[in-house]
Amino acid sequence: MKYKLPMLAVAVCLQTVFLFSSCQSSTAKEAGVKNVPKETSGPTQESRDGVGEERSTSSPRSVTLAFTGDVLMGTNFPDSSYVTRDRGRSLFVDCADILRGADLAIGNLEGACYYGTAGEVKKKMTATSRCFIFRMPGDHARRLAEAGFDAMGVANNHAGDFGPTGRRLTVENLRSVGVQVSGQKGLAEEVVMERHGVRYGYLAFAASCGNTLDVNDPVSRDSLIRHLRPHCDILVVSFHGGAEGTSACHVPRKKEIFLGENRGDVYRFAHECIDGGADIVVGHGPHVPRAMELYKGHLIAYSLGNFCAPFRMSTAGATGLAPLLQVQLDASTGHFQQGHIYSFRQVKGAGPRRDDTHAAAKNISTLTQQDFPQSGLVITEEGEVRVN
Ligand SMILES: [Zn+2]
Repeated sequence: MKYKLPMLAVAVCLQTVFLFSSCQSSTAKEAGVKNVPKETSGPTQESRDGVGEERSTSSPRSVTLAFTGDVLMGTNFPDSSYVTRDRGRSLFVDCADILRGADLAIGNLEGACYYGTAGEVKKKMTATSRCFIFRMPGDHARRLAEAGFDAMGVANNHAGDFGPTGRRLTVENLRSVGVQVSGQKGLAEEVVMERHGVRYGYLAFAASCGNTLDVNDPVSRDSLIRHLRPHCDILVVSFHGGAEGTSACHVPRKKEIFLGENRGDVYRFAHECIDGGADIVVGHGPHVPRAMELYKGHLIAYSLGNFCAPFRMSTAGATGLAPLLQVQLDASTGHFQQGHIYSFRQVKGAGPRRDDTHAAAKNISTLTQQDFPQSGLVITEEGEVRVN
């Protein structure tokens, strides 16, 4: 897909449907603007499984999605020394072509992002260099739109760093530049975005993060998926879960406790999401990449690690690997067709930069062979992902 279309974004709440017209920022993304197709009646569950109605012949047979892990574009708390001089304009220069080229691009926004200093500082923290709470300047939301992100997950352990006010202002700020948001209970839950006649649903979950949609609440999760499924053709679920750090590279297939918190059984969570109707499940949270798995024809990426954290986060070892996952899915069934792991490496103070050694892809390839040797995925050292 050469160009993105402005999207008609429909946030479907449990009781109310809100329509957001696109207010995408002025970027190259606007080239090739076409009329967004009118929304049609929702597909049945049967149609998803190829049993019921068929798509019109004009509908694409496959769709391209792009995903990243944690995005922290800097922070003006405790002070503005953790913001780039060009206000984030060059953070995504090396990857924007991939993000813009996808039908849908989603990342995890690891912190608050709004104008001003309103909001309650979490945990009675003071403005010291040891205080790791994150507030990206409000104008940086536009950098996400310019880079090609369509939606961001805000279900994570830093989305609430500035309390309810910070959560609300962040959601409003992202939506104001055309970036849709999922992950906050009662504030930003279900999202549907339509493009090229395909409707994408998105839900973001996190483990042990307060006000977020909860990895450890299967009843609510199943309810959300069940409700959203008829409103979209491709249903994406992301999660922020699992233990953290270079000793947490493997998927343990059991509940993970980290810093005394229940960080979820992400293996079970991902499988149950697919069983419940999700088409693809993408994780982050460990700050390092993890394996990928093909489950019932659907792709699970257990962690995409960090992607853009030029300040305040480690970039040592595997934490500096910044994979960008591009996948093609069958537009009718949501089944994985092929993909590519583009390898970037984080550069302090600059952002993700192309890595011609393909370290991120090699890392995920090795982990996938170790953790899911039977799942039928082949990942080459250059990052090509295909079904065996
Ligand atoms: Zn996190």
